[in-house]
Amino acid sequence: MLLRIALFFVVACLALIVLGAEDYYKLLGLKKSATDREIKKAYRSLSKKYHPDKNPGDDTASKKFVEVAEAYEVLSNEETRKIYDQYGHEGVQQHKQGGGPRQHHDPFDLFSRFFGGSGHFGHHGGERRGPNMEVRVAIPLRDFYNGRKTEFTIEKQAICSACEGTGSQDGHVETCDTCSGRGVRIQRQQLAPGLFQQVQTHCDKCGGKGKTIKHPCPVCSGSRVVREAETHELEIETGMPTGVRITYENEGDESPDWVAGDLIVHLVESDPTLGQHDHERTDGTFFRRRGKDLFWREVLSLREAWMGDWTRNITHLDGHIVQLHRKRGDVVQPNTVEIVKDEGMPIWHQQLENNEGQKWGDLHVEYVVVLPDLMEKSMEKDFWSVWEKYRKKSGVQLDGAWGRPEGAIKMPTPEGEDEGHDEL
Ligand SMILES: [Zn+2]
Ligand SMILES: [Zn+2]
Repeated sequence: MLLRIALFFVVACLALIVLGAEDYYKLLGLKKSATDREIKKAYRSLSKKYHPDKNPGDDTASKKFVEVAEAYEVLSNEETRKIYDQYGHEGVQQHKQGGGPRQHHDPFDLFSRFFGGSGHFGHHGGERRGPNMEVRVAIPLRDFYNGRKTEFTIEKQAICSACEGTGSQDGHVETCDTCSGRGVRIQRQQLAPGLFQQVQTHCDKCGGKGKTIKHPCPVCSGSRVVREAETHELEIETGMPTGVRITYENEGDESPDWVAGDLIVHLVESDPTLGQHDHERTDGTFFRRRGKDLFWREVLSLREAWMGDWTRNITHLDGHIVQLHRKRGDVVQPNTVEIVKDEGMPIWHQQLENNEGQKWGDLHVEYVVVLPDLMEKSMEKDFWSVWEKYRKKSGVQLDGAWGRPEGAIKMPTPEGEDEGHDEL
């Protein structure tokens, strides 16, 4: 471990001398105008990416890990950032030699300020790992269909950046003098003259931590952690299934005592609502999804269902039109389901490039026919006479045609069917 740190220090120095020109902003993938937030974000993602524990034996990654830490330390400090912007690497170097602010030379130390533990991942060296955090994020069906890049914000426990997770205002943490750092005390209790009992108790001076702080950090009151809102980017890929889990590595609750666990996001579908904008008011907003297929109920009038000659334009989730049509004479029976090919959900392919070879499920349209229950008097008369005319001419009595009996049928009695043979 020590050797490793020493090695990285050497690499860090070499990097400074040999590759001193590598631009810090470029290194973090940022513009010169980057905000503190963006700098932090860039460090978070890049330091995880290049962490030696994740890239065993990869010297390039190790070097990057050191460089990223260095870039972060310079750019995250207002003073050194100004110097860097004006005088570049050399200016920062001179400033450091001139006794600038406290610098963390060990990139693992910096890493641990972000992700807890001692700067390493759980799989190595028996590092304790914090619990995973699970959240549900509800998004409209439209976003599952079209795909979208968005953000969400959650509150989590974060290492206090004011005291860098020490809990102390001045950085001094002392070993508890009451328990000598053990966190417990042995007390002798006299039960009777000459009879003692030894009791082990929790040290109340340090609360069992074994360490005391004279001046607690005013931000976290010495608890070393704070509640913080954090915003994450969310990329919804077209056709992602409902309930899909997206893992954000080491973005769970943080603590100096463990390496942060993962944040796991479950994408669920939100209830459809009529929004204010046109694109939130399409028919598609109210499609129902099952796997790769979509379902829709379309209402037809009696005339339409029976006589045909109608057109419906259904607006899909991306705004395109699916046209339903019947020409005159095409009858649609109530509850018929029409399957419109390839108008369902896009099928999710994680490896699909440029949507090439994209496939879709089907759209199932169920027809509901509504009959008028109120008619104008004259209209009712007209219809009635038409019906009467054709009923007399070629009408069929369905009851008769199906051979149904005209009256009630006598059922056998429960006592026995053969009534005439009681005396046997
Ligand atoms: Zn603090
Ligand atoms: Zn103590």
